[in-house]
Amino acid sequence: MNSVAPVRTIRLADLSPEERRRLTHRSGAISMDVTSVVRQIVEDVRQKGDESVREYTERFDGVKLDSLEVPRVEIETALDRIDQHLAEAMSIAASNIRAFHSAQIHPEPVVETSPGVKVWRVWRPIERVGVYVPGGGARYPSTVLMHAVPASVAGCSEIVLCTPPGPDGKVPEATLAAAALSGVTRVFSIGGAQAIAAMAYGTQTIPPVQKIFGPGNVYVTAAKMLVFGDVDIDKPAGPSELVIIADDTADPRETAADLIAQSEHAPDNASVLVTTSESLAEAVLSELTRQLEDLPNRDRVISSFRSNGFILLVEDLAQAVGFVNEYAPEHLQIVTVSPREILEGINNAGSIFLGRYSPVPAGDYAVGSNHVLPTSGSARTFGPLSTEEFGKWVQVQELTQEGLRSISNAVTAMARAENLEGHARAIEVRFSV
Ligand code: NAD
Repeated sequence: MNSVAPVRTIRLADLSPEERRRLTHRSGAISMDVTSVVRQIVEDVRQKGDESVREYTERFDGVKLDSLEVPRVEIETALDRIDQHLAEAMSIAASNIRAFHSAQIHPEPVVETSPGVKVWRVWRPIERVGVYVPGGGARYPSTVLMHAVPASVAGCSEIVLCTPPGPDGKVPEATLAAAALSGVTRVFSIGGAQAIAAMAYGTQTIPPVQKIFGPGNVYVTAAKMLVFGDVDIDKPAGPSELVIIADDTADPRETAADLIAQSEHAPDNASVLVTTSESLAEAVLSELTRQLEDLPNRDRVISSFRSNGFILLVEDLAQAVGFVNEYAPEHLQIVTVSPREILEGINNAGSIFLGRYSPVPAGDYAVGSNHVLPTSGSARTFGPLSTEEFGKWVQVQELTQEGLRSISNAVTAMARAENLEGHARAIEVRFSV
């Protein structure tokens, strides 16, 4: 490890199996202390509704709210009140997100498994969904678009948005404008565990939803885990991550800029460069130092590099692919001679960006792909947020008399083998005189 370098450099060949395991392991565990605080909040909101939501908003957000709900007219007019360049940017993003997510649900074919035996699936939306948009010091209109546009494409009839109020008790205008663009039906200026509990169980003013989506801090995540079972939730989001696979054709300036961009989100983010090229690694280190000099979010990036960043030197691209499949990053950028060839070997990654003109920030906002992705290694089993998660397939079957006759022996024999005589008779009664 180099003590003056902004990020450490490691050679894969020098790692023991245990060191390699530690490098790829990320934990999404939440402490017992947080869980017990959140359990109380959830229980209070469940029992006392709005009164409790108001109390916690005053305690944690320092705001006494007259009304929990943002009036409809404020949402509808928000686009006119924001900077018009931002309004235009958000419309482009919303339109691209809509295009990509509209292509995710197709009518499925009717399959005739035997003559006269038809089975197929029809798409149905979840009726009422909730989207949590983090507040605190920041505003995230892109989070609104990434959730609410797919929800509206899926056909959800109620899309409820909760976000903490600012010190003036208001929701940021950009968040309201994004809500207007993406078909959000109601906005409430409440945050944290109290917002999650309110959406899960409903209060006098906040309608209960059937599934809750959206990122947030540990209190928000813990609350989602606690209400799961009573309502459905999306996958909990951990710190954001990027792995870049690069060979000596990658540009060190662009590579350094991409690592910095990733680590700008939060001090616990992970930016990793996996490269076959020692000269690229050295050039990236000097570029990082140079580019960090005047970066507004410098301290956050440096903390992220220190905690979870590294450059990994590998002997060939096959080793790089093997490491990435173990790490299962949220974002993977491939900047090599033939990125599509590398893509073939990648099994575990949330969202893959091919070539030097496909940087992650483009996908964060305006490509149309979803930026809500599996973190902490869950890309081994999960994919990105998609339209499918805002609805479900319902299975339909339709049999003719001949169709049922043709499979009746198969049904009755299996039913009797499982000691379900009633099942067998429900078939036979249709053919007895
Ligand atoms: P937040 O909205 O998640 O949390 C704010 C709320 O936390 C407050 O309203 C309050 O109710 C609650 N809270 C604060 N202190 C508390 C305490 N001591 N006890 C109980 N509740 C308390 O906003 P945040 O805190 O700024 O966190 C936002 C998080 O979301 C960050 O970690 C950020 O990285 C993440 N994020 C992720 C994405 C993504 O797409 N994955 C996007 C945007 C933000």
